Amino acid sequence: MERKNEINEAALCDAWDREHLWHPYTSTTNPLPTYKVKSARGCVITLADGTELIDGMSSWWCACHGYNNPALNAAAVKQLGDMSHVMFGGFTHEPAIALGKKLLELAPDNMHNIFYADSGSVAVEVAMKMAVQYAVAESGSHSKTNFVTIRRGYHGDTWNAMSVCDPVTGMHGAFGSALPIRFFVPSPSSRFGGEWNAADLQPLEETLKEHHDEIAALILEPIVQGAGGMWFYHPEYLRGARALCDKYGVLLIFDEIATGFWRTGRCFAWEHAGVKPDIMCVGKGLTGGYLTMSAVLTTRKVADTISDGEAGVLMHGPTFMGNPLACAIALASMQLLESQDMAAHVRHMEESMERLLAPARDFANVADVRVLGSIGVVAMRNPVDVGEFQKECVRRGVWIRPFGRNVYIMPPYVITDEQLKYLAEQMLEIVKTLP
Ligand code: PMP
Repeated sequence: MERKNEINEAALCDAWDREHLWHPYTSTTNPLPTYKVKSARGCVITLADGTELIDGMSSWWCACHGYNNPALNAAAVKQLGDMSHVMFGGFTHEPAIALGKKLLELAPDNMHNIFYADSGSVAVEVAMKMAVQYAVAESGSHSKTNFVTIRRGYHGDTWNAMSVCDPVTGMHGAFGSALPIRFFVPSPSSRFGGEWNAADLQPLEETLKEHHDEIAALILEPIVQGAGGMWFYHPEYLRGARALCDKYGVLLIFDEIATGFWRTGRCFAWEHAGVKPDIMCVGKGLTGGYLTMSAVLTTRKVADTISDGEAGVLMHGPTFMGNPLACAIALASMQLLESQDMAAHVRHMEESMERLLAPARDFANVADVRVLGSIGVVAMRNPVDVGEFQKECVRRGVWIRPFGRNVYIMPPYVITDEQLKYLAEQMLEIVKTLP
């Protein structure tokens, strides 16, 4: 199927926008093209000139049900009739309670307390604050306040989140010594579905052995490292990491912000290893991509130790905490997921992507092809020019945004077999032409 759109760049890239609006990771003097969207429905994004794009990105992992979903729209409208927001200090409400109950049903069974936050990055900040406050309360000293993490990670754009992002693909270069210095160990080399190499755990063991007195927690993305490298690693690493954290009295934080809500084929990625964290962050797909919201879950022990400690409370309380509109939509999103056999559906997406992307393994410019759940990655040998790549995507009626050397898709779950086939075929057609 060949479908080439004539794109009128001038019409699609708004001049005022280009002059005044800062887009993510974009230069003001040499900005990447930004295409003007008129509407989006299901798995199709429609540009201002009527060009239709099949979405391969779920708007950076969050729009899991696609766009303009009737059930989520209805939940939003219903909640608007009651209240869109009310402060969470001193008040509570049914959407927050119902969502909390649902999250605890889905989370590991040791999770007990939930802190609602504004975004993924803020969830990571809150998780790190929890770990520090716990360590201070437990040890009675302020020396156990640092973190260890694995390279190739990505945890968000706020200060502490940045400090635990991969030092090379993250923002350490730009911010230098302004960032707190963390302990980094290599990312596990054993790939998901491959052989387990026990040596992968050695650097973590050495670091914890030597520095556990300074370390409050190990933070990582379980199984799938997203924006920092799109790497899928062996579940055994998580089992070993859990054992090491227990041995050295260090908390384990799972950042499930990208991996949550069935993206990896399980509701949460920890399930691949059966390993329970002490603190877990969820976000992105939580509201089906409708509103920004995240949640940090933790054990009763962590919550109560913080509360019985010097500070007496968790030191965080954002204005929009527990936003009723976001909670109501999130609940509807979770009910929608529950109403489908998501395990079977994502397995079907995985098999399709595996089959459709497999030919790229023979391309000379491709280093690796990997698929897990509803995530498909073509890792190139050379960095990809995002602007040029996206121009070609728009011409071909698809939406993919590569990062570094990785060209990847994680489409909304509502994508049809035909749409997925077209998306993957166009992706490979463009990949073929890359250096
Ligand atoms: N953690 C992970 C694993 C993420 O993928 C992201 C977002 N890409 C974040 C944290 C930060 O989330 P947000 O952009 O909502 O702040």
